[in-house]
Amino acid sequence: MPLPEGKKDQSRVISLSRQVLVGDFVKKVKEISGQELLDCNQCGKCSAGCPMASAMDLLPNQVIRMAQLGQEEVLKSRTIWLCASCLTCESRCPRGVDLSRVMDALRLIVLRSGTPALDLADLEQEHLLQAPQLAFIASMRKYMP
Ligand code: SF4
Ligand code: SF4
Repeated sequence: MPLPEGKKDQSRVISLSRQVLVGDFVKKVKEISGQELLDCNQCGKCSAGCPMASAMDLLPNQVIRMAQLGQEEVLKSRTIWLCASCLTCESRCPRGVDLSRVMDALRLIVLRSGTPALDLADLEQEHLLQAPQLAFIASMRKYMP
């Protein structure tokens, strides 16, 4: 339903403050990833070359923007789990940002909170029988604490 004229959709409003921009979440992402988030100038070259972009709910440049702004909602994004760590974004980035490390850091923050991204019990028997064992081992390393 369209909002009345002059009203903002509150679910899309981002609250910014100095505390958030230098807060624990931003510090943690920087510490784990080893990346200076503010080096990113939002040129978009990472997203333009990302082979997984069409399946992502947030583009890679949007992920780093949310991390820069201390928006912890980024942890709910499918994108951080879909990133294939292919490093295409790093090779295209004019600012030398390794975005795959930022994605790694965001996944680690979720996993360290004890929330698995994958429950083997949810997988269908058919997939369990057909998928190669290596795929399971790799998935467990990536998606489970
Ligand atoms: S390519 Fe680099 S500078 Fe450009 S948006 Fe992506 S991370 Fe930021
Ligand atoms: S490392 Fe991840 S974000 Fe970067 S191009 Fe590859 S899939 Fe996309």
